[in-house]
Amino acid sequence: MVEKREGVGRILVATRDIDPLELILWDNAAAMGPRMGGKPVCLQCLKPPKPGKLCGTCGWPVCDEKCETGYSHKIECDILAKSIEKPDFSKLDDVLEVYRCIAPLRLLLVKNKFPEIWERLSYLMDHNEDRVKDPELWNLYQDNVNKYLKVCGQEFCDEDVDRAVGLLWTNSFACASGGGQAIFPTFSFASHSCKPNCAHSVFPNKTLALQAKEKIKAGEEFTISYISTLQGLLKRRSKLRDKWFFECTCARCQDATECGSHASTLLCQVCKSPDALVTSTNPIDPKAEWNCSKCQQKTNPEEINAIENRVAEQMQKLAPSSMAEFESFHEDVALELHPSHYLMLLLKRHLIALYSSCLSSLELEDLERVESYCKCVDDAYNIIDPGYQKDRGSVLRTMCETIVSIYKVKKMIAKKRLADGVDNEEQFKKRVQDCCEVFQEAQKCLFVRVKKDPNDFSKFAVVQRRDVE
Ligand SMILES: [Zn+2]
Ligand SMILES: [Zn+2]
Ligand SMILES: [Zn+2]
Ligand SMILES: [Zn+2]
Repeated sequence: MVEKREGVGRILVATRDIDPLELILWDNAAAMGPRMGGKPVCLQCLKPPKPGKLCGTCGWPVCDEKCETGYSHKIECDILAKSIEKPDFSKLDDVLEVYRCIAPLRLLLVKNKFPEIWERLSYLMDHNEDRVKDPELWNLYQDNVNKYLKVCGQEFCDEDVDRAVGLLWTNSFACASGGGQAIFPTFSFASHSCKPNCAHSVFPNKTLALQAKEKIKAGEEFTISYISTLQGLLKRRSKLRDKWFFECTCARCQDATECGSHASTLLCQVCKSPDALVTSTNPIDPKAEWNCSKCQQKTNPEEINAIENRVAEQMQKLAPSSMAEFESFHEDVALELHPSHYLMLLLKRHLIALYSSCLSSLELEDLERVESYCKCVDDAYNIIDPGYQKDRGSVLRTMCETIVSIYKVKKMIAKKRLADGVDNEEQFKKRVQDCCEVFQEAQKCLFVRVKKDPNDFSKFAVVQRRDVE
């Protein structure tokens, strides 16, 4: 249910104990549309459009006749057709600012047609008083939404248009593989945490499912992460500040070691000792200096940011399929970053994916290294993105296959040396059991993104929205 708490506003709270993987709620989008600030997409299915295929009525991109007459696009087609300014849809690879008007228009039409849905959004924040302080951003929306809708002959008042834009800006979630965004009246109350206990999936039929990743006790808050969890302290907090105007105070943000995960910890370049760790002196203050645990050498946060940006840029230049390039880069960066710094985790995760396709051809030494990468990433996930989640599932699957491969290679070596088996029966049993457990965990992780018909979820709903004054 939705509960109002001092200082944080309305939040989603468990009314009873929730098991891992349980479905918590499903929610219908109040409006769904193209991503504001994205590249052109088909106005019906929100997929990248085919070059030159435009709607016969309004002239905006659609896939085909089916999409042209689809329900979502139908709502706005006649309105867009009235525009005297026709946008140029010849460049489909560039961001097209006028696309910013579609989602707000759909939401404004919902306000007119289904005022009760608009009413349900009334408790959500729009951050307009913060957004107006950034004239460039504010005017971008004034030109492409407020003014463009007038060009289309729509007489919405500016207050409503600004409210619609602000609601979408602050509360919507990505869908349609990033090409779209949608706003959900109840789900929007789920707060952010940098170590979330829930995961969510958005379905093409405008439905969203919220699922528990781990055990959640009655009275506890349901949290999701608005951003990727594989990011460091400075990056995460600046993203949350810029887009959602808040200073995150989750447990991960309040601890310089990020709950012991060391996802942002650097190695001191003065002591050059592997246990000389550089962390923030006050993680919730973006201006606080960073400090070496051994020599007390101070580094300012701008320098930390510069190091992370440099490593991230170098990483992007590596050939994606080259194990050798990634391995040697990983070795270099290991002198600067903690083994579980988020950039090291990203490198390891990429290497795990590369190795997973050729495990059977690897030498024992390589296999053992892959296993250590898997363990490192899994350990970090258990802290910063705990419970069942898809990315952890892929890592665990490779871990399981690696363990099997290691065993096979060891057995072969033992055979060559004419020795007995590598394990006695007891050890062998234990190994098989461990492997089965890893495999089961992996399966559960992959199950967190349900791909079933979301209309079946009603019977699972365990939370109901109730507004508390
Ligand atoms: Zn389409
Ligand atoms: Zn049309
Ligand atoms: Zn946080
Ligand atoms: Zn030092």
